[in-house]
Amino acid sequence: MFEKKRFLKIGAVAGALLLSSNMVAMADVDYQTWLKDFKETAARSGISKKTLDNTLDGLTPNKRVLELDRRQPEFSLTFWKYLNGRISEKRIQRGRELLKEHAALFKKVHDKYGVQPRFLVAFWGLETNFGDYTGVFPLIQSLTTLAHDERRSEFFTKQLITALQIMDRGDIPYDVKASWAGAMGYCQFMPTTYQAYAVDGDGDGKRDMWNSLPDVFYSAANFLSQSGWQAGETWGREVKMPKGFELDLTGLGTKKKLGEWAKLGVRNIDGKALPKADMDASLIIPAGYKGPAFLVYENFRTILDWNRSNLYAIAVGHLADRLVWKGPLESPRIKEIPLSRAQTLQIQARLNENGYDVGKPDGIAGSRTRKAIKAFQKSKGIPADGYPSVELLKLFK
Ligand code: CA
Repeated sequence: MFEKKRFLKIGAVAGALLLSSNMVAMADVDYQTWLKDFKETAARSGISKKTLDNTLDGLTPNKRVLELDRRQPEFSLTFWKYLNGRISEKRIQRGRELLKEHAALFKKVHDKYGVQPRFLVAFWGLETNFGDYTGVFPLIQSLTTLAHDERRSEFFTKQLITALQIMDRGDIPYDVKASWAGAMGYCQFMPTTYQAYAVDGDGDGKRDMWNSLPDVFYSAANFLSQSGWQAGETWGREVKMPKGFELDLTGLGTKKKLGEWAKLGVRNIDGKALPKADMDASLIIPAGYKGPAFLVYENFRTILDWNRSNLYAIAVGHLADRLVWKGPLESPRIKEIPLSRAQTLQIQARLNENGYDVGKPDGIAGSRTRKAIKAFQKSKGIPADGYPSVELLKLFK
């Protein structure tokens, strides 16, 4: 799903009218009362009566959307499971065919925005399996359900008002369907992203991210370009760390020139020297120090603007590579044992007890937990990769 921190700022403009009124988090108010108030406020903010009548009248909340919003995974996703689940031979093959089939369109988009076709096809494949799964949930019903709900009311109220503005503009039909959280079209843009970055690529006056491939690819490339995509650069590469490598240097917080990484003994995964290019890179080890290592460039950070998950960004980059006939990752496939939510909670509780503050345990190993794990590992004199694992849990016993 497409979510981006700075969309909140864009959304804030759209939502300002609402937030200045009495629309924030009205969980104690029933849905129908809330909807009536919302309709009045939306009308005052300039949305046409026609759009509001056609989208809001007779709506009921969607319980399934709330269930999906509350869902918590029982096990953490491991690196290989994630990657294998998203990059199948079938998907690679179809991506290669689509790359060829739409070459002329991709060339135009590349000339305008500098985004290489293989990346656009990779996003398209990962987001919706090349348009096969764009979501079956009526957009406005989902967004009103989530805006009325207290958990993320402010965020979804912004998405809702923006979706109505997009409908008012004539881009999308009133009964459009999306993901349960409101991600739309072939590349799953959230409404605020759609409003800010979608482009009418085929010039028919509408920005249609379902039926017009020019609109889809101009829009995705426009988003990437405006988010800092470096034309002519790739996303990163799989590398080998030397024995005894200082793991403190790993993570997106440390940037060094390729030449500096080479001096530290980092090499291409095939053992050859790193390319000689004046590029900043960070070294990441998403499965811990025993797993694969990647040097990632600026464009990797731009992919993170699309979706904040390192695993997602690696999947985009690797799929893009595979589309142009590169091979699978070469690191040995270590056996990864997924942590249950309960085990992650235990690790967090033990860290807290041992004086490594992770805040209130939530069963999700975020950046604060990983930092605490690193500090704990250092104190034990073991490789400090910050990676939560079953072995780590055993150390506390
Ligand atoms: Ca169009």
